Amino acid sequence: VFVCFEGGDGSGKSTQSHALAEWVRAEGFRPLLTFEPGDTPVGRLLRSIVLSPETGALADRTESLLYAADKAEHVETVVLPALERGEVVITDRYVDSTLAYQGAGRALQLSDVEWVARWATHDLRPHLTVLLDLAPTSGLGRFEERDRIEGESMEFHERVRAGFLAMADADPDHYLVLDARLPVADISAAVRERTRPFLAQ
Ligand code: C5P
Repeated sequence: VFVCFEGGDGSGKSTQSHALAEWVRAEGFRPLLTFEPGDTPVGRLLRSIVLSPETGALADRTESLLYAADKAEHVETVVLPALERGEVVITDRYVDSTLAYQGAGRALQLSDVEWVARWATHDLRPHLTVLLDLAPTSGLGRFEERDRIEGESMEFHERVRAGFLAMADADPDHYLVLDARLPVADISAAVRERTRPFLAQ
């Protein structure tokens, strides 16, 4: 079973993915909790390149390819092996983040970004994507120190949000969209209810 958490910065993906992993374990299954970008040795290096403010400007295509490389390494060495072992893989960000940030956010052709991301990930798709929707004005307020992306304009982050919502709207069977401002426990409960049937399969 493969579950992804997506959403803007500060929407609570990390809290909720941890909560889901704990519940999965309590239900008697083995969770594998992971994230993008950066949860492999080469991914850590790529993450520091794409996110450090010291990197300065990156060409949009360069940025997109670096994220794709992180994803390729992540899927090949972490996600697929865990799925083959029968674990419940829970990731904080996946392909949708790329489609939203590099596709909707940057001036790149969405279909190109999507093709690269699908190729990088063997077109592996999650059973369920939980989108924690939040206005960028709320999410970004949580950070004092901003990484290279968090420092982008509000318009950029609005495009990212709209990009996430459009993907969820187009494929409701594979998405759970929740208002990230709801109480943490309510969000966790809703995520559990949508995940439960997959564990029974
Ligand atoms: O989720 P996390 O805080 O680890 O993400 C790190 C940063 O990378 C965030 O600022 C996020 O906006 C950015 N990001 C991105 N494109 C992606 C994935 C993450 O710009 N495909």
